[in-house]
Amino acid sequence: MARLDSGGKGALVEIRNLDKKYHRGEEEIDVLRGLNLDVEKGEFIAFMGPSGSGKTTLLNLIGGLDAPSAGSVRIAGEEISALSGRKLAAWRSRHIGFIFQMYNLIPVLTAFQNVQLPLLLTGLSKPERRRHVDDALALVGLSDRTRHYPRQLSGGQEQRVAIARAIVADPTILLCDEPTGDLDRASGDEILNIIGKLSKEFGKTVFLVTHDPVAAKRADTILHLDKGTLLEYAAEKPIASKAEESPR
Ligand code: ADP
Ligand code: MG
Repeated sequence: MARLDSGGKGALVEIRNLDKKYHRGEEEIDVLRGLNLDVEKGEFIAFMGPSGSGKTTLLNLIGGLDAPSAGSVRIAGEEISALSGRKLAAWRSRHIGFIFQMYNLIPVLTAFQNVQLPLLLTGLSKPERRRHVDDALALVGLSDRTRHYPRQLSGGQEQRVAIARAIVADPTILLCDEPTGDLDRASGDEILNIIGKLSKEFGKTVFLVTHDPVAAKRADTILHLDKGTLLEYAAEKPIASKAEESPR
């Protein structure tokens, strides 16, 4: 079970006293303040919170797309903030799959070519790449759309291609930033079904940012970002105490 204090040991994701500040001119914005979180392999966590509460910032820190102002993010025993450049990029390609609200597919590439992109950085042979891409597109139900370009797909289908791209290199962790935010309920539900399957059947550790309480209910644990730290949401699923106040 996810824990919000700093007492856990050996979780897949261990976040300790995480601070993130941004500077905008003279102004300093304290986005995350002494945030603690432990997440076990295979857990499915939903992050909720108002716009500007730091949900994207937190996902970016877990995925090594941004560096903490203070504190630590350890994943599988490795301190992410200590990595940089090629080491960080290599670590990310092994461990992290990103899924964004706006899909971020490359318009001049087919579904197959978009999904294949992350594999071009690996040493896989062409037939191996083809097998992985075909498997990923089959998993999201798009085996019949491999030659289509993004503009020839619906929003829901584009997001399924983006999921296939996120999982093609078999990452440990999936970071999903409002993946259904731009979709109607039916297409959104399909996306959530796939994400749920990746958690339950494939053992992926999933972090889902969403505004939608119905979507959040798919997760094992719902956490709220509040004043730069995390609060437990679902009273019927108790998970340890309120986040510690970090001394400052
Ligand atoms: P959310 O995803 O919950 O809407 P964000 O993590 O995107 O929130 O942003 C949290 C706060 O940090 C906001 O006030 C935002 O304006 C600010 N912020 C985010 N990224 C940057 C940045 N690169 N530079 C300056 N301020 C930023
Ligand atoms: Mg955001």
